[in-house]
Amino acid sequence: MATIKVNCRFCNQTTPVRKHGTGTAGFQRFRCLDCKRSFQLDYAYEAWKVGVKEKIVDMAMNSSGVRDTGRVLKVGYNTVLRTFKKLSPRQITTIPFDVANIKLICEVDEQWSFVRNKKNQRWLWYAWEPRYKRVIAHAFGKRDTETFNELQRLLSTFTIPFYCTDNYSVYSANLPKEKHIIGKIYTQRIERTNLTLRTRLKRLVRKTIGFSKSEEMHDKVIGTFIEREYYL
Ligand SMILES: [Zn+2]
Repeated sequence: MATIKVNCRFCNQTTPVRKHGTGTAGFQRFRCLDCKRSFQLDYAYEAWKVGVKEKIVDMAMNSSGVRDTGRVLKVGYNTVLRTFKKLSPRQITTIPFDVANIKLICEVDEQWSFVRNKKNQRWLWYAWEPRYKRVIAHAFGKRDTETFNELQRLLSTFTIPFYCTDNYSVYSANLPKEKHIIGKIYTQRIERTNLTLRTRLKRLVRKTIGFSKSEEMHDKVIGTFIEREYYL
């Protein structure tokens, strides 16, 4: 007699797993006595299988559109959207900069994108720290003071001696003169990061018909990319 050990899908243990009848699609069910949850090894629908939800997000972070993802992973269009809806990316880095001792020099820039149609603009505002070579905070909204204030609120946890920005008027109106350096030459690294985003996220690629249909999805997908690349 051959015995196959089954790992619990949730806690990865083998000893507490018992058979638990068959599901409606005819697959064997299992139950874990430890975490009291039941699961199957095989499912009728692709999206239920282990790891598929992670792949949906991975594909979005590698320039696949929602329909591309659906076709490759053999899941529905709505499954892809539902997976994005459940994302809740942070807007600020988790790296514990010692706020009292480390002074961060910040490059701040904003990137144009749109939701639904080109008139409905949605800007990504973010701050880049050149020494640590990473994005440290981001915010979405209009290209106005309100969104910049949200970014500043996030940045208020850091000690920032200098802000380097382009010469957009919102910066000069809201930043103290002695801390503000203006010029394209000081924002080269953040401009390069703009290109990374445009290459890796289909909804930011120019001249495609891939774009966001809702602000929520837009912010969540782009936010997740930034979180995965820079905040962890
Ligand atoms: Zn378990």
